[in-house]
Amino acid sequence: MVPDTPSETTDSTDSHTGEEHTAVDTARRQLEHAVAHLDVNPNIVERLKHPTAVHEVTVPIRRDDGSLEVFTGYRAHHDSIRGPYKGGLRYHPGVTREECVGLGMWMTWKCAVMDLPFGGAKGGIVVDPKGLSDRELEQLTRRFTHEIRHVIGPNKDIPAPDMGTDAQVMSWIMDAYSIQEAETLPGVVTGKPPVIGGSFGREEAPGHSVAIITREACEYYGKSIEDATVAVQGFGSVGANAARKLDDWGATVVAVSDVNGAAYYPDGLDPHEIPSHDEEPEAVTRYDDDPISNEELLTLDVDVLVPAAIGDVITEDNADEIQADIVVEGANGPTTFAADSILAERGVQVIPDIVANAGGVTVSYFEWLQDINRRAWSLEEVQSELEAEMKTAWDEVRTEFEDRDVTWRDAAYIVALSRLTEAHTYRGLWP
Ligand code: NAD
Repeated sequence: MVPDTPSETTDSTDSHTGEEHTAVDTARRQLEHAVAHLDVNPNIVERLKHPTAVHEVTVPIRRDDGSLEVFTGYRAHHDSIRGPYKGGLRYHPGVTREECVGLGMWMTWKCAVMDLPFGGAKGGIVVDPKGLSDRELEQLTRRFTHEIRHVIGPNKDIPAPDMGTDAQVMSWIMDAYSIQEAETLPGVVTGKPPVIGGSFGREEAPGHSVAIITREACEYYGKSIEDATVAVQGFGSVGANAARKLDDWGATVVAVSDVNGAAYYPDGLDPHEIPSHDEEPEAVTRYDDDPISNEELLTLDVDVLVPAAIGDVITEDNADEIQADIVVEGANGPTTFAADSILAERGVQVIPDIVANAGGVTVSYFEWLQDINRRAWSLEEVQSELEAEMKTAWDEVRTEFEDRDVTWRDAAYIVALSRLTEAHTYRGLWP
């Protein structure tokens, strides 16, 4: 991902109350909301509101002009009761300690709802990587890896790409860590190129899981995917892969967007014809002579809306205008806490990010398995295992949704929290 998605990294403001809330506030509020439906030990919930540790380091590099510049980096560990910490590393000027903690909490829930043997973490460096040369970026990455090497590792904490980082950055981390450990350890990071232990199908996985969940949700509400109309905000890794897979399955994709606006064709467009953000940045608005705005895309009268660009796009200001029957969250945190309640009251079904885009971390888990077993899987194996894992998670969340008469988000949190609290109960508090 390129770092052009700032609103996920800045604290958002409730337009009515003027109250500022950070990612960690939202994550805690969502936790409390779901806990109200469960009979769980409040001491465990209290523990889950806090990270285990937040590692803050300084990262000096020599700039190309010979000067020295010092950057700040973080690695927030939220919970590891069910396995090593897992989560992305982002390079973005808006990275903060609080953001890393909040996003790390979401990773804990995401891994738990998918029943992956991982906990949650997030980290990053406060930097605009576009302002660095390739040499500077490599030096920054290697030095950062050195500074956090005692807290990461294939059995401790496994970073992955996020905003502003990619397969090349993961390769440098793997190399720096392996050199320091004096052995090649591909399992220290995921999202690597396949030639050094990456997995086939990793890049497409979050978009494909969004498509699988969209298909399951449509079927649940009595609509076959061939009859569904879909609008997708964001045409990057998640949005483009979701739109193309849904088109392959016969859905009518009527709108897709990039940061500049949206292409809208009421009778459907071909998402395979439009270059994705990675293939040709911001090509969507060049494809359509008369684009609509991103705000208009969100309120189109479609069966399914997939916000797959940035966080906090469905807010209490536009929640009343959302016309889609189902919202499938492709991005992390696209719906604010206040908007969530409005949509629930209006009967708009919101399938949460921690399930919908969890294909990314699920295939990261497959990559880690391939690395520690030193055996590569074919693309077909990856795709069929992903389909199976997503359907299992969907069925488990659907059971809670039906049995408890809660929202899809609460149902997903209930599945995740049940696993986490049971694990905490068995392991107990030490000393
Ligand atoms: P990306 O950078 O590949 O694409 C982002 C897309 O959103 C681009 O088309 C860009 O033009 C558009 N965009 C940027 N700012 C926008 C704005 N203000 N309004 C409308 N559109 C805007 O990003 P991605 O990897 O597809 O990630 C998108 C979201 O999905 C993020 O929330 C990310 O955290 C989440 N996510 C990504 C992955 C992954 O592995 N890529 C996994 C899970 C979740």
